[in-house]
Amino acid sequence: TKKETEFDPEAAAFWKPGEHVPFLFLASAFDMISDESGRLAMTNILCNVFRTVIATTPKDLLAVVTLSANRIAPAHEGVELGIGDASIIKVLTEAYGRKDDQIKAQMKTLGDLGLVAKASRTSQKLMFKPQPLTCVKVLETFREIAKDAGNQSQDKKRGRMKALLVAATECEPLYVVRLLQSKLRIGLAEKTVLAALAHASVLSEVPRVPASQLTARLEEAEEIMKETYSVLPIYENIINAILQHGIRKLSEICNFTLGVPVGPMLAKPTTGVSQVLDKFQDMEFSCEYKYDGERAQIHCLEDGSIEIYSRNAEHNTGKFPDIVDAMPRCVKPGIKTYVLDCEVVAYDREKDKILPFQVLSTRGRKGVLLSNIKIQVCLFAFDVLYLNGRPLLKEQLNIRRELMYSSFQEVPGVFKFATAKNSNDLEEIQKFLDDAINDSCEGLIVKTLSKDATYEPAKRSNNWLKLKKDYMNTTGDSLDLVPIGAFYGRGKRVGVYGAFLLACYDEDREEFQSICKIGTGFSEAVLEERSVTLAKHVIPEPRSYYRYGETIGVDVWFEDVEVWEVKAADLSISPVHRAGVGLVDPTKGISLRFPRLLRLREDKTPVEATSAEQVAEMYRAQKINHGHGGDDDDDD
Ligand code: ATP
Repeated sequence: TKKETEFDPEAAAFWKPGEHVPFLFLASAFDMISDESGRLAMTNILCNVFRTVIATTPKDLLAVVTLSANRIAPAHEGVELGIGDASIIKVLTEAYGRKDDQIKAQMKTLGDLGLVAKASRTSQKLMFKPQPLTCVKVLETFREIAKDAGNQSQDKKRGRMKALLVAATECEPLYVVRLLQSKLRIGLAEKTVLAALAHASVLSEVPRVPASQLTARLEEAEEIMKETYSVLPIYENIINAILQHGIRKLSEICNFTLGVPVGPMLAKPTTGVSQVLDKFQDMEFSCEYKYDGERAQIHCLEDGSIEIYSRNAEHNTGKFPDIVDAMPRCVKPGIKTYVLDCEVVAYDREKDKILPFQVLSTRGRKGVLLSNIKIQVCLFAFDVLYLNGRPLLKEQLNIRRELMYSSFQEVPGVFKFATAKNSNDLEEIQKFLDDAINDSCEGLIVKTLSKDATYEPAKRSNNWLKLKKDYMNTTGDSLDLVPIGAFYGRGKRVGVYGAFLLACYDEDREEFQSICKIGTGFSEAVLEERSVTLAKHVIPEPRSYYRYGETIGVDVWFEDVEVWEVKAADLSISPVHRAGVGLVDPTKGISLRFPRLLRLREDKTPVEATSAEQVAEMYRAQKINHGHGGDDDDDD
């Protein structure tokens, strides 16, 4: 746990020069991280791990970083392990000579297959000490497991998992299993991995950075790392660049690359047209319809093939063969390579009408066949990020938009440009917002046009503001929250949970903070569906990274597995809930009043839930707009 500046990386390595980094080195660091709740301490530990690897075994850095980020390959490559808990249980019985029902029973008490694996291993007598696992070996095996396909693939996968588990000792089985489940559960977000890698790079520089410059250099490096990763999320390229040229050269070397999705630019909420006008005073801006569908970043590669990426940079091409098929008709002659930013919306072509989001969510997710498609979609394009070899991220929106209009063409019911209006007149914008709602959109996104109007990857930018119809008398925007616990139902709802405890995500502290209890907005069917799904993720104790008031009296805790979109009447300061604690009140958190469930957000992972900072911003905005907020609520 030594501070980064007091640390001797070479002395920390317990393996011989020339050997690969033992997995136990990383697993022990994971153990230390799981005992910490502060982001600084976690960054510190991980930075020291990376520094040790850089100083002694730099060729293993990629494997160590990739495993720390809980990945096996970059998200856009769509590499998946393809194993479920049932397979893992089977492997545990074989590797550790235990019975299936013993494992299941222990799973109930420990709440985590990783802990079961560790306990099974500890109670086993070993005749021979197995060959130590290395980080490189673990990652290679994961990649092989992902590649196994065809007839005997499940057997092959299990064989490889068993080999790993037989070789794992001490705390290693815990993390082998959790990595196999793609869930490390130690509260370590990718943001911390990136920060730790940035710090490690600065602290490994020769000659050493003088102490007087260190703080500034660490901050600068974090920023460079974050920006580079949002444009090129590939650890291999990033690590090669920093090892060879240092972090200051990183953004020159790692650039936007066709075929690799950039993190999508996101919008900030506002409470009404007048707030938009306030924020964008003296700026040229444009209002666009905010379509309610699914984000799609469409890449047309040099060979003419089309790839589609989701909001999370995941490979989504298999879901939309109809878009792949249609794209060539939407491009004007002479356009060969491009990246378009769009919203895919379910569409009734006969009536020429946008259909609700719920219709889109009934489409298959993978391997969809063109001939089987029943729900048609229309693509609404709103940005172009790359065209015929030219990256456009740094161009202003008015230039990008002109290029989009002149390079693509609308195809009725298939491909349209997002409806846009350039106006700075309050009434005109209000009217345009009404039009958007009448045309089945969620509202508007208002974007700066010619100044401060570059494309900001992976950023919730002040230069994109969202405006929804019912902003004026509610919290302004819906929130995306994570169910972390539940309360038993009474009366009619016996057998399903009666209410849930929701949490937002504090990015800095890497913890889920309780924000409200929710019991309405559910149809019976939805309530049952959510109850059944979440019942599979019950854990005996709350995670170490959950924050909540002790008086809440939760009956059951869940793993952080899904995200719900929720609307509320307003926000208030709460003595019980912990959302944004320290941001608007030193000891109290913020809670939602009268929350209502809108829908499940399948496109977001728990760490992408509304952040504590966003909750605090909403609270402050509400106070300015209505002069209210601040009353302690009674939390029910
Ligand atoms: P929300 O929580 O409001 O549904 P979000 O958190 O996913 O959205 P936001 O930044 O709030 O992201 O809203 C931007 C989203 O709106 C984009 O990710 C995109 O999918 C969608 N969208 C629809 N129309 C547009 C448009 N014209 N320009 C940009 N994004 C649009």
